[in-house]
Parts: sequence; structure tokens; C-alpha cells
Amino acid sequence: MVTITNHMPTAELQALDAAHHMHPFSANTELGREGVRVITRAKGVWLTDSEGEEILDGMAGLWCVNIGYGREELAEVAARQMRELPYYNTFFKTTHVPVIALAQKLAELAPGDLNHVFFSSGGSDANDTNIRLVRTYWQNKGQPDRNVIISRKNAYHGSSVGSSSLGGMAGMHAQGGIIPNIHHINQPNWWAEGGDMTPAEFGLARARELEEAILELGQDRVAAFIAEPVQGAGGVIVAPDTYWPEIQRICDKFGILLIADEVICGFGRTGNWFGSQTLGIRPHIMTVAKGMSSGYVPIGASIICDEVAEVIGMEEFNHGYTYSGHPVAAAVALENLRILEEEKIIDHVRDVAAPYLKQKWESLLVHPLVGEAKIVGMMGSIALTPDKGTRAKFAAEAGTVGYICRERCFKNNVIMRHVGDRMIISPPLVITPAEIDEMFVRIHKSLDEAHAEILERGLFRSAA
Ligand SMILES: *Cc1c(COP(=O)(O)O)cnc(C)c1O
Repeated sequence: MVTITNHMPTAELQALDAAHHMHPFSANTELGREGVRVITRAKGVWLTDSEGEEILDGMAGLWCVNIGYGREELAEVAARQMRELPYYNTFFKTTHVPVIALAQKLAELAPGDLNHVFFSSGGSDANDTNIRLVRTYWQNKGQPDRNVIISRKNAYHGSSVGSSSLGGMAGMHAQGGIIPNIHHINQPNWWAEGGDMTPAEFGLARARELEEAILELGQDRVAAFIAEPVQGAGGVIVAPDTYWPEIQRICDKFGILLIADEVICGFGRTGNWFGSQTLGIRPHIMTVAKGMSSGYVPIGASIICDEVAEVIGMEEFNHGYTYSGHPVAAAVALENLRILEEEKIIDHVRDVAAPYLKQKWESLLVHPLVGEAKIVGMMGSIALTPDKGTRAKFAAEAGTVGYICRERCFKNNVIMRHVGDRMIISPPLVITPAEIDEMFVRIHKSLDEAHAEILERGLFRSAA
């Protein structure tokens, strides 16, 4: 047996990784040739790699490390729970204390009468739960034909076949197809798709596509509408202000269930406990994961309103995961929520970090590459463009310039992601103004270098 440790040379670790580890959302053959970055430890907002580089994590891992890295308390709780009760299921007339406590806490934090929690191991399987939940709900109410779920193009709801069908990522649908009775409407992305409309007009028009879809499919066929309060993986797309009130009106009018996918927006990211509160949405079901445990352990859930839970409870619900309400995951998530609450981290977001980040983020608009800067709480995006006035796309294939910019960020030890030609950030919520300053030194340097590179390579040109 080989012992693989942090102290091995990077090249050896990379070779072993390339030989045996298949990475998500990657072209693995090419990646293996290039060599991956090896992260060895982390503290606060900082990652350390196997070369000793200190990297500022502007993405909080995958939008999840809300309280920052390296919190001893979570390690302690996990160790204690593993010693006391490392595992037991919640299937057969059984429960345990961590899952009771976490469900109670989530019901207390969630708005309105979202009082019932069904646990999963992450966001994808929670959304799979939601598909079965909403279809079973209508079946139990004697309307089995009401089984179509409406979602949006360029939405991200997970990577399992069910949740990626809900999602609107064409590249994922092309590999494995989608399940039946999911219908996609257009996204409220004004920068890319708004044409000559004002943002307000466009927001209304895109919301009304929901009403048109319901009428086209038949009112008695539509079970639910699912959406992220702010689209995350789609590029931090913030809908115009007119959008959500109109969506809420339409859901109310037709009595369809509204599912808010809060996997990114939940637990402080938008400046409130949930994105639904920031955007004035009243969902029947919320999907949560990521920030619920700050990523320290895998756990997700569907948080369900009284009426839906009551209808589901009428019959046996044929659904569950081995790790639904895993005691170690539940105990760690609960400790994470305690820290968020007692250290007033959401107040820090609202009063300190988000206003400061917004001011810095919007100042990027003066950069020659940046056409639009959007930000809600601690999630932001900029659109890169060769011509701000016309919101032009680049002549080069979509994502070429975004990729160049992301590579420059990597090189300058700041993590920002690109989605096509949008750059996005979602730092840990505990980031301080001084760390935000440091992040922007690196972002400015990276944007300037990317600008120089695309000029030099003749890529600073608009599509015809
Ligand atoms: C990440 C994400 C998911 C999927 O969660 P996993 O834990 O990766 O399965 C679902 N919905 C949204 C909005 C997400 O950002």
C-alpha cells in the first residue's frame, strides 16, 4: 500500500491524480496532461497549495464555505458525534438527537410556515426529492396529471439526472438527456438577452413567459415552478426588479407550487438568512445545501410548508436516502448554524462586507473590459465585453475571454470563476474589508493582464 501525503512532491501527486481520479466538469485527459492544483490546507478565506502558494478564495470553495475555513468547533463536534453515534438511519420508526435538533433549527430560521424538513446529502438529491414531492402532492390531491415542472434555461439545480433535467444547462442535457415533463422558459438575463427593452420591461416579459407556458401546457398539468432567487452557476444572473413580483403573482393565480432553490442563496449569501427574503418570494418548498454546513460535511434538505407536508403525510412517501439526516452531518450543520447566528455573520454581511464589496465591485465598471457589474449580498458578476455601449459579445467563441481572465486570476492567487464571458465571485461571508482590498488588488491585476493579452491576440473584437 502506498502512503500518499501532503509532503509528496506536487508532480507525484499530480501524476497519481491523473492516473486514478476523474474530476467533475472536466476534460480529464487534457487535465491530466496539464496537471491539477493540489490544495493542502485552508484557514479563513485563504487556501494553501502544495507549492506553498497562498490563494485568496473568492468563491468560498463552490459557494459553500460561508463561515470560512478552519473552524475548530466543527471538527470537535464531528469527532464527538462520531464517538457517540456515528451513524443510524431515520427510516424505520427511528430518529436521533442531531437530526431532531437540526430540523427544529431549520424550521425556526426558515420564513413563513416552512416547518418540515426532508434531508439529503446535497443539493442535487434534494431537488430529486422535490420532483417526487410535488408530483406526489398533486397525486395525493387527486390530480395525477398535474406533473409538469416548469424551470428556466441556464438554471442550475444539480448534476443527477433528475436535478439536471430541472436545470437548464444545454451541455448537461446533451450528455444523457432529460426526464419527461420538465418544461423550460427563458431566463431573466437582461445583459445577454434584453435586446432593446429596458430592464424593467424585460423582467416583466420574461416573468410572463411563465403564464404563457402554463396556459399552453394546460393549467391542470402544471405542478410547480422552480428557480434560484439569484441564478448562481448560470453566471450570477440578477433578475430585473420587476421579475419576481410578477412570478409570485402568476404562481398565486394558478395555484402552482413555488420551489426556491436556495442552495447558494441560503444561509446569508444575499444578506438575509434566505434569498427568498431578500427578493420577496414566498416559496412552498426551499432546497438547501452548501452553506448549511459551510461545506464541512455533505448535507442538503428540502424545507417544506405545512400544507404540502400534510398532503404528503397522508400516505407512505416512497423515498429516502441512506444518509438522510446523517447524525455527524446534522451535528456539524447545527454547529455551523450556531456560529452563523451567535457571531452575527449575517449582520456582518449586511452592515459591513456586502456594502463594501458592492462599492468595490461596481467600481470595476470603469475597466475597459467590463460592461455590467451585478451584485446581491456576497455574490457578484461582471460581464466582459468588447463594447459596453452595445452590450456586444466577443467575436471569439463564448468563454474564450472569460477563460483567459480566469487563468490570470489563478496565476495571481485569487479564485474567481468564469461562466462564458462573465466573471463571478462568492467569497466566504466572514471576509473582512482588508481582505476585500487584497482581493481587489489581485482582481485588478488579473483584469489588466487579461485585457493586455486579448489585445495582443487580436481578441478585443465584437461579434458581427
Ligand atoms: C450546487 C447547486 C446544486 C447542487 O448541489 P450539490 O450539493 O452539488 O448536489 C443545486 N442547486 C443549486 C442552486 C446549486 O448551486
